Amino acid sequence: MTQDATPADWQKTACILCECNCGIEVLLEGRALTKIRGDKDHPNSQGYSCEKPLRLDRYQNGAHRIDSPLRRRPDGTFEEISWDTALDEIAARLAAVRDEHGGERLFFYGGGGQGNHLGGGYGRALFNGVGGKYMSNALGQEKTSEAYVDKHLYGAHTAGDFENSEVAVFIGKNPWQSHGMARARPTLKELARDPDRAIIVIDPRKSETAAMADHHLQIKPGTDVWCLGALDATLVQENLIASEWLNTHAVGVDEVLQLFRDIDITDYARRCGVPEDDIRAAARRIARAKSVATYEDLGIQQSPNSTVCSYLQKMLWVLTGNFAKPGGMHIHSWIFPLAGPWFPIERDEPVRFSGARRAVGLQSMRHGAAAMRAVFSRLDGHATSGKVAENVARSALHFFFPSVSVAAADPIARLAGNVDRDAGVTPVTGARIMAGLIPANSIADEILTDHPDRFRAMFIESSNPLHSLADSERFRQAMRSLDLTVVIDVALTETARAADYVLPAASQFEKYEASLFTLHFPHNTFQMRHPLMPPMPGTRSEPEIYAALMDRLDLVDPGIIASLTASARVGRSAYSLALFSTIEQKPELAGIVPYLVYRTLGATFAPGDEAQSLVWSFAHLAAIAQPDAVRRAGFTHDGEGQGEKLFEAIRDRREGVIFTEDRYSDAWSYIRHEDKKIHVAIPELMDELRLLDAEEPCYTSEEFPFILSAGERRAFTANVIIRDPEWRRRDKDGALRMSPQDAADLAVDTGDVVRLITETGIATTTVEISDMMQPGHVSLPNGMGVSYPGENGDTVVGVPLNTLTTVTRRDKFFGNPWHKNVPVRIELVDSSVTAEG
Ligand code: SF4
Repeated sequence: MTQDATPADWQKTACILCECNCGIEVLLEGRALTKIRGDKDHPNSQGYSCEKPLRLDRYQNGAHRIDSPLRRRPDGTFEEISWDTALDEIAARLAAVRDEHGGERLFFYGGGGQGNHLGGGYGRALFNGVGGKYMSNALGQEKTSEAYVDKHLYGAHTAGDFENSEVAVFIGKNPWQSHGMARARPTLKELARDPDRAIIVIDPRKSETAAMADHHLQIKPGTDVWCLGALDATLVQENLIASEWLNTHAVGVDEVLQLFRDIDITDYARRCGVPEDDIRAAARRIARAKSVATYEDLGIQQSPNSTVCSYLQKMLWVLTGNFAKPGGMHIHSWIFPLAGPWFPIERDEPVRFSGARRAVGLQSMRHGAAAMRAVFSRLDGHATSGKVAENVARSALHFFFPSVSVAAADPIARLAGNVDRDAGVTPVTGARIMAGLIPANSIADEILTDHPDRFRAMFIESSNPLHSLADSERFRQAMRSLDLTVVIDVALTETARAADYVLPAASQFEKYEASLFTLHFPHNTFQMRHPLMPPMPGTRSEPEIYAALMDRLDLVDPGIIASLTASARVGRSAYSLALFSTIEQKPELAGIVPYLVYRTLGATFAPGDEAQSLVWSFAHLAAIAQPDAVRRAGFTHDGEGQGEKLFEAIRDRREGVIFTEDRYSDAWSYIRHEDKKIHVAIPELMDELRLLDAEEPCYTSEEFPFILSAGERRAFTANVIIRDPEWRRRDKDGALRMSPQDAADLAVDTGDVVRLITETGIATTTVEISDMMQPGHVSLPNGMGVSYPGENGDTVVGVPLNTLTTVTRRDKFFGNPWHKNVPVRIELVDSSVTAEG
């Protein structure tokens, strides 16, 4: 096949190794991905890909794949069991936990890795179905601080228009390796090449991006807050802010300006270790730019003061008026909001409808649709009558859809379960919940206690928290103390090894999948990936697994399933009408809509295509919420026809679809505050900055004299779905990077083995002397330290970082762990010892 491949043999899918999800094309030989290239047709990545996906076959066909449900024996080993046995037992034990302790005691973790998000929607349905209230995932140790700041400033998520920015500012972010934006490397090269544009980087390391930068503010590790504070203060004290713009578009400005007037720039520069002149020069470059976009990432999100840092970095573009214009920052549309609430965008021309029409519409939904559903049920299989019924449904929807669609869609879009996304605290430790996520660092504390409200069961899907959260051993103890733990994954991961049941999932290339990271502006894109091959024998897709469990939990009246299925057989308009009216009459079912559509609409799709039904829901919800932007993307139909056409395009255009086209000024309409202004004052963070004013940063001690940055993104690191060490072409061991000065002081050379000792654990690793590092700062890569089956048993290559981290060093507000700031001691190991030894 590879030799004689024709263009038609290349199959379209996406890379799954970072949130960019670049479009790729693959050639198959049997089940092997033999050749991979960037897909020029992909509307976002346009043919670009980095080197990472070229060996994705190591994920697809590695020895790590499991092909049978597993049940834990009392001695900790696993036995293979049938799918029916596994599903029966898990459903019964879930029901027992719910009945004895309440559904709130079931904790859900995950909802997918990069580009593996459809399963999460179905998982939410199970979670809601059993009355779950608390959940989290990797974002709960990364993005919650930023989400809090976003919520207060304007109520939504922002992204930068870097392709058009005059100045790009990266804080704790190395897009050359960690990407995070479309076509990251070409975009960086264009920025660096153009003398009229500039890159500003705040990073303790001289990363690849920092090396290209016009201004690299090389802070001492952990001191970002003082560098960012000094930049903001320079803008204010040198009167470089967009005063008129702020007066028009922001509230609370005066108190924020006073905060920055009070900062001693010279002293802040000293504390972060950057020459004051360099900070002032960078601030002046930001101020004189026509456009500025900023990007913060794990470098600050997993370092001290992450919430305040997030606030201060956003003030750089707020104070200079860089919002809603080319090259600036924007709030964007969603196919379905991954974080934050679903909400409708004000239309260009508000639809005027009388109260009477809305009332009639609601009555039609409540009563008329019920009668129609009964008719649809009787028409099941009668083609001519079915056509008539579909036309009747279409006419009915045409009449009242504009007046009731938002109200009808709202509970469905919120997957209305118990989760209060915006408020609340955890039941045991009182940790703050943000964007519906409890701090990942609090999970073990919510379990390892005799508190009556502790979690009793945990469902973990497509995630490896035992490996990726701080203090792995404590997380293992927490899992083992629960009444029930279930893991769904393609491999027997570190987390799976601590579970009671492991359910083998189909790979991302064996099922329908999609990424919900639709973060682009002004052209927002979405790609539904089709399976490239059937599931590996013995495995099942997550939607299929969740649906089977929900069947066993008997959560829905079979009559409702039958009636909705009959409506779907009549037509999509009949189905839309029936679904809306069902949720209107039984709002308690809104939280399990993914299951309902899978079992009803999905039943009318070709076998194996059922999971497309959730994407059908996304398409309609996106069109209802953002009809003008969807129309500008070419979907010009009225009413529910718009969502239907969008769904058909998503289904048929395998390279992906631009589903919304925004205008730059539209970013204002995405602001959630009623006054459509940016609310710049966040009192608790301003108070915190005043406290930090008195703090002298120091994160090392005599015992632990170095700072370890745990989780550096490198050319050959990826998330831990890559388990095969042979995937890495270079840096196979994931060496510890160290400055030449530190290496000389410790008398170590590249390739030597050292021992790392933290307050939590010990690990050995090889050394790489690197000019990237400043003295006192060392770094280890992410994605290492996972087990992989070999001929002589499992091998583990590299350091599992969270054997070295602790849950106690964390952000004051949202508990984000300081993985990028781990105090450590380094000792030279006898040269006869290997890194694994
Ligand atoms: S790793 Fe990220 S940037 Fe690289 S090809 Fe995959 S999705 Fe694109």
